[in-house]
Amino acid sequence: MELTKLKGNTWIIAGPVNIGIYVKENEAVLIDSGNDASAARKILRLLEAQNWKLRWIVNTHSHADHIGGNAFLQKRTGCEIAASVLEAPFIAHPELEPMLLWSGNAPAGLRNKFLQAEPSVITRNFDDGETLDAFGLQAMALSGHMPGQIGVRTPDDILFTADAMLAERILEKYGIPFVAHYEAAIATLAALCKMEAALFVPSHGEPAKNIKKLADANRACLSALRDDLLDICATAPTTRDDALKTLINRRGLSMNLEQYALIFSTISSVLTSLIDSGEIECDFSTGTLLLSKIKKNDA
Ligand SMILES: [Zn+2]
Repeated sequence: MELTKLKGNTWIIAGPVNIGIYVKENEAVLIDSGNDASAARKILRLLEAQNWKLRWIVNTHSHADHIGGNAFLQKRTGCEIAASVLEAPFIAHPELEPMLLWSGNAPAGLRNKFLQAEPSVITRNFDDGETLDAFGLQAMALSGHMPGQIGVRTPDDILFTADAMLAERILEKYGIPFVAHYEAAIATLAALCKMEAALFVPSHGEPAKNIKKLADANRACLSALRDDLLDICATAPTTRDDALKTLINRRGLSMNLEQYALIFSTISSVLTSLIDSGEIECDFSTGTLLLSKIKKNDA
């Protein structure tokens, strides 16, 4: 783990989850807090070596790999924590995350540190258009991956884009990026393409001056997923579970409980787009939800 200056007072600890740091007069704001207490301990050591005092953590969203260091850092430093109104409940009550994925109290296999972080105390809400006063950081709504996800722009014009888009190598490896709200995710990618910043920093990927190609790759990946699901529902009426099975087999992906919960949730959000647009209809005549592509008349 090491600190790298991006520009001015904006720094990054690059890793599987990039951590942003903005420093003003030796006081630091973290943008996300890493995986767990062990990552947080290393982050704190890096800050202390610079003589920086941790004042704030801004969480881009509530996923455990972004908030996992909150509890340790807040306990050690008394730092404040900012998050959007929609994400804050999941950070204060992290058991909601596996519950959201499972749509009910989740089995122990989902209540692990990858999906359920330690709880921490949110001390202010930080939503689209707001500024973290003394530091000048601005929040920007990047809904989709999670409903209340925000990006954070530092006064150096560095825009941290959270999980709104993933590096292309990650898209290729996992194939199905998590989205809680498909339509919002697509709209966010379109909006990002038009945004200007000195540098864009995705949480999982490399900082880049131009993100149009990356945003396009993410959009193509999501719309391919939508096309695939529509095609599966066109072949025969299918349950959500069978749609998932067909999709996983088509793509040659392996499955476990965590993957199942994440992909099932993503598929559900894509199906919502297809149901609400009138492309897919729901039928319950067999005693469960069957999804079918609606056949349009040629006329
Ligand atoms: Zn995430």
